[in-house]
Amino acid sequence: MDYFLSDDVKAIRELCAEIAEKHIKPVREELDRENRFPHEIMNVLADSDLFRIYIPEEYEGLGLGSMSLCVAAEELSRACAGIATSYAANALGAMPILLFGTDGQKRKYLPGLASGKSLAAFGLTEPDAGSDAGGIRTRAVRDGDSYVLNGTKQWITNGGEAKVYTIIAMTDPERGARGASAFIVEDGTPGFTYGKKEDKMGIRASATRELVFEDCRIPAENLIAREGTGFMVAMKTLDNSRPGVAAQAVGIAQGALDAALVYASQRKQFGQRIDSFQGIQLCSPTWPRRWRPPGLSPTPWRG
Ligand SMILES: Cc1cc2nc3c(=O)[nH]c(=O)nc-3n(C[C@H](O)[C@H](O)[C@H](O)COP(=O)(O)OP(=O)(O)OC[C@H]3O[C@@H](n4cnc5c(N)ncnc54)[C@H](O)[C@@H]3O)c2cc1C
Repeated sequence: MDYFLSDDVKAIRELCAEIAEKHIKPVREELDRENRFPHEIMNVLADSDLFRIYIPEEYEGLGLGSMSLCVAAEELSRACAGIATSYAANALGAMPILLFGTDGQKRKYLPGLASGKSLAAFGLTEPDAGSDAGGIRTRAVRDGDSYVLNGTKQWITNGGEAKVYTIIAMTDPERGARGASAFIVEDGTPGFTYGKKEDKMGIRASATRELVFEDCRIPAENLIAREGTGFMVAMKTLDNSRPGVAAQAVGIAQGALDAALVYASQRKQFGQRIDSFQGIQLCSPTWPRRWRPPGLSPTPWRG
């Protein structure tokens, strides 16, 4: 079902499919095996303006909204979930600024993110605060015109690769979730370093890393929205980025089906292609033509 996609979004899907064929498929296995961040692919996506698609036009984006991002994430995931995660996590990191940033914060950070020259990451999770996001312990203490951050974030996608981090920290721990606030922290800020990089079982072309804050001083103007709104900023950020995660799941499933169809058209048993057997045919005759993997010949019953 794609009849409701605009021509622009259809063009984005075609572009992502081309990039996947030409640039991603040749290197995806190596990147995954070597647990390597796909800098070269991020440059291709940047040169293709794919980091601009969800960012409003006044901040040098293309203003095509969440649907465009979902379609891009789906098509890239079809080729490599790790690369797609490295790409899509930028929107997650940018979302607190997009949704709640001041005009000044948007003008400072969004054009760089739109160009793909700087990447973004979102830091909520901590070693003892996963599903229970309200249990975070990273502290942000106001000190004159600054906030001073101390604590550790864990499993942060694009950690160590991003230039812009949106971080949720406690400004008033007594108030629980209502005492959290959201901040922008730039790579290279004194007191901000990177810890362990995870050696994951999959999506290894995506960096997942610890962020460590030790007396990290940031300007007070890097507070997003108001003190005490950090939990709400985080939840709205997740609400807006979850459709992209679902789109990634669809893309990964589609990629698996593509591979299975190719295999079924090549594998022979009892002197025949196995896609000539009824049990295998059950999953394939109804697939629209556009989903047929490149190079796959029509199945025998289609003629
Ligand atoms: C590859 C990867 C990338 C990530 N990227 C980021 C990122 O960029 N930024 C970020 O902030 N975080 C990131 N995370 C962290 C992710 O958001 C957390 O993994 C998630 O919040 C779950 O937390 P947890 O893993 O600690 O699981 P836990 O909270 O320990 O949960 C473990 C299990 O218990 C279940 N459970 C927990 N609470 C309940 C309950 N109340 N009722 C029923 N069941 C429950 C869960 O469903 C789960 O099955 C990433 C994680 C991974 C694996």
